[in-house]
Amino acid sequence: MKYCVECGSEYQDHVTECADCPGSQLVDAETMRQRRLPLPHERDTREFIRVGTAEDPLTAEDYVRLLEAEHIPVFSRPRRGGTVDVLTTGNPHPWWEILVPEDQVQKATELLAREKAQLDATAEEAAQAAEEEERETENAVSAPGTAT
Ligand SMILES: [Zn+2]
Repeated sequence: MKYCVECGSEYQDHVTECADCPGSQLVDAETMRQRRLPLPHERDTREFIRVGTAEDPLTAEDYVRLLEAEHIPVFSRPRRGGTVDVLTTGNPHPWWEILVPEDQVQKATELLAREKAQLDATAEEAAQAAEEEERETENAVSAPGTAT
C-alpha cells in the first residue's frame, strides 16, 4: 500500500498519483511514519486539529520537538501556498501546520504560544545586540575627538 503525503489516502502500489492531490507524492507506510504523517486507520481513532503554523521547516521541527517532549502526539505537514493564498495574502511560500489530537489542543496551544514568545524575544535580543554593536562602533569613531 502507498499513501498520499498530502491527504493520507491509501492507494494500491501501482498507483503513481493521488486522485485528489495532483503532483503529490505517494509513499509507503514506513515513510509516512518517518514523516509523522498519520495513516488512514490511525487517524480514524482521533481527530487531529491544527494548533499552529510555522513559516519554515526549522520552526515547525522546533514546535514538534517541544510538544513531543510534553508527550503530546504531534505532526507537522507542509502546505503549499495555493493560488488563493497568493491572491488574498500575497504569500506564495509554503508553510507548515502543526497538528495535535483534539484532546491536546488546549495544552499544545499554550505551549506553542509560550515557545513563540520565546522565539520572538530571542529575535528581539539579537536585534538589540546588533544595535548596541552599532553604537559601540560609533563611539569608537568619535573617541579621538573626545580625548582632547
Ligand atoms: Zn491526496
